[in-house]
Amino acid sequence: MTDVRNVIIIGSGPAGYTAALYTARASLKPLVFEGAVTAGGALMNTTEVENFPGFQDGVMGPELMDNMRAQAERFGAELVPDDVVSVDLSGEIKTVTDTAGTVHRAKAVIVTTGSQHRKLGLPNEDTLSGRGVSWCATCDGFFFKDQDIAVIGGGDTAMEEATFLSRFAKSVTIVHRRDSLRASKAMQERAFADPKIKFIWDSEVAEIHGDPKLTGLTLRNLKTGDTELLSVTGLFIAIGHDPRTELFKGQLDLDGEGYLKVAAPSTRTNVTGVFAAGDVVDHTYRQAITAAGTGCSAALDAERYLASLA
Ligand code: FAD
Repeated sequence: MTDVRNVIIIGSGPAGYTAALYTARASLKPLVFEGAVTAGGALMNTTEVENFPGFQDGVMGPELMDNMRAQAERFGAELVPDDVVSVDLSGEIKTVTDTAGTVHRAKAVIVTTGSQHRKLGLPNEDTLSGRGVSWCATCDGFFFKDQDIAVIGGGDTAMEEATFLSRFAKSVTIVHRRDSLRASKAMQERAFADPKIKFIWDSEVAEIHGDPKLTGLTLRNLKTGDTELLSVTGLFIAIGHDPRTELFKGQLDLDGEGYLKVAAPSTRTNVTGVFAAGDVVDHTYRQAITAAGTGCSAALDAERYLASLA
């Protein structure tokens, strides 16, 4: 049986590393499970990040995450590139089991497992991520000034992304699988009224073209089977996100969309001693800086909780 730690952090994006930095500097010696495949989180899959404060000329996503990791490690965070496969959060001492079956124990747990954007599942999608293909207009819209862009999806997020992008783009084409939108009426009306936005209905993306950068899409009409080529240099995929909360089902309260619920503005979950931060909680802002901000809050909440036990 391992010693009882003060705090275990599950997840290693901006939220996890920031929580690690703060708890390490508070001498709590955090143990951080970074994830086996995607240590560093979502920004490991992108190129330039221009909106993280402090980097006047922007910074590459992986470099930013390497710096956050090194900063947490410098103050004594113990970082493990492994997945947590199960948790028991019910007692005063929480247990967290890794892939080797080792059970780790802690008085407090911070969950920062992030969320996974849904993909189209097409061959070029990952290769062209950061080279024309994006899942975040707030992050990347600025790179597409005066360009032709496609947005995939029919919900509120797709409409929001499209209306935001139309500020920069030459044109925005919304491609939707059905002949009507799921988005709220207000969002639909805003998109319909925008002269730069047009719609292609009943269609899906059959192929993504470009090497090394996106040049266009083949669209397939789902009613007729006809295909057409759409020339675009930007593709924003807005078909939803899946928070990584499988591990916590039945133990922590989730909202209707599967995100962890916290007693905002704190990061306390419904279970005493368990805190959550970043995109696993947040389906509104989903930015590196907001994830880092709530990661800091979770560390401070955990620190105060641990002090209250003493
Ligand atoms: P994540 O970064 O998703 O990290 C979660 C971590 O938890 C992952 O490393 C995962 O492996 C780990 N994990 C999950 N389950 C387990 C488990 N069971 N055991 C151990 N570890 C686990 N935001 C910006 O502000 N600016 C940008 O320019 C920008 N560009 C982006 C580009 C792309 C392609 C993407 C996908 C996102 C971008 N974002 C950007 C959004 C930003 O990356 C996220 O908002 C942010 O990374 C969320 O941080 P997080 O710490 O909550 O989660």
